[in-house]
Amino acid sequence: MSIRTAIDWHQLLSSKEVQPADILSYYAERSERLEPAIQGYLQRFETPVQQTTSNWSIPIAIKDNICVKDHPTTCASRILENFIPPYQATVIQKLLDAGLPIVGKSNLDEFGMGSSNENSAFHKTHNPWNLEHVPGGSSGGSAALVAANLVPWSLGTDTGGSIRLPAAFCGVVGLKPTYGLVSRYGLIAYASSLDQIGPITRTVADNAALLSLIAGHDPQDSTSANISLPDFSARLHQPIKGMKIGVPKEMLGDGIAADVRQAVEKAVQVYTELGALVEEVSLPVLPHSLAAYYLIATSEASSNLARYDGVRYGYRAPNAKNLREMYQRSRSEGFGPEVKLRILLGTYALSAGYYDAYYKKAQQVRTLLIQAFNQAFESYDALLAPTSPVSAFKMGEKTSDPLQMYLTDILTVAANLTGIPALSVPCGFDTQGLPIGLQLMAKPLSEPVLYQLAHAYEQATDWHLRLPPEVN
Ligand code: GLN
Repeated sequence: MSIRTAIDWHQLLSSKEVQPADILSYYAERSERLEPAIQGYLQRFETPVQQTTSNWSIPIAIKDNICVKDHPTTCASRILENFIPPYQATVIQKLLDAGLPIVGKSNLDEFGMGSSNENSAFHKTHNPWNLEHVPGGSSGGSAALVAANLVPWSLGTDTGGSIRLPAAFCGVVGLKPTYGLVSRYGLIAYASSLDQIGPITRTVADNAALLSLIAGHDPQDSTSANISLPDFSARLHQPIKGMKIGVPKEMLGDGIAADVRQAVEKAVQVYTELGALVEEVSLPVLPHSLAAYYLIATSEASSNLARYDGVRYGYRAPNAKNLREMYQRSRSEGFGPEVKLRILLGTYALSAGYYDAYYKKAQQVRTLLIQAFNQAFESYDALLAPTSPVSAFKMGEKTSDPLQMYLTDILTVAANLTGIPALSVPCGFDTQGLPIGLQLMAKPLSEPVLYQLAHAYEQATDWHLRLPPEVN
């Protein structure tokens, strides 16, 4: 059977050519056969979590930092290994209301901190295109499962690129929505001013369909945007002739791998042939985004992760002699090394005497970035860049050098700092046959424009039709 998208299944369900149970057993069979090689799940449910059956009875995998009531939600951390949320994340309630069966919780870097999935406390997920390579992170499990066609779609979260980077590395479509578009209620916080939940899918049309199921105002999230939702699929089939796309030269400069650059240049050609006007643009503040991101994200993380003290929930070290030792040992034994590093960095950046030099400066850079993007969007419908400077690297290649790992995020973090929507769509393969991602960014709440541009490109190319050879 050829690969079916969620929308294909939706049509087959509507015309009653398949039953919900047929879809579940199709993916269950594939998962039993192929999941041992991919290891995208932390937990695959024997019986899917489901509320109703409907035309959207299409299975979905959920990144394991999003709470599914009464099922373990671990953030791939020892500290939450036995945590069972007593409440439902808003996105999960929305999916259940729409009839989607939740088939499992996918692997991630601990608390979303990482770019390769190697920081999971439990096991590593493999890239379906080459099992010795990383799937990207932190939503690596969610992206690998879709790429291997073990599930038609999944949810990831993106604080600094964690949806787009694994989408690029695995050859699927991933969107980080506008900040505030999707409720964060029930998402375990990493860096609250940057975190967003978003869809990972095989095609752009599926992505728009899934976004429409999870977006919307939620009074339980004080940062949720109270707006009327657009039809995210409305512009999918509209021609892009005459649309203006800017290519920030700071995103295509030094440090971009040759095959990534070539693939992106070819994509520019495709857009030009489709009638878009593509030109180079400069945002001189862009090179400062990575430093600003790693200060703000770690600062917020140091505050958010203070709640894991072993008192109310999560891991508690046994036999501590006093309260202080209980805190100390619970946190020392419960957190992995990268999480500890981030807490230390963030605490340092926020401490008296350093706050002005680090945290405050980073926030000033953030404001400058917002201004630069606002200005660019006065002239351009979208900005175009690679999603990542490199394609999927080998497992272990960057684990000993945090800075090298952080540099993978250099092209994705600006969208989180500014709150704008950004999408990664497959745009080719490197010399080793590993996927490359093209990133499109637009002004806040312009998801329909991103989908329009990405869909036009997708229809003009055939990257999305390929399946990794190892998982056929
Ligand atoms: N790799 C980035 C980090 O480690 C982004 C992670 C994310 O988006 N959750 O912070």
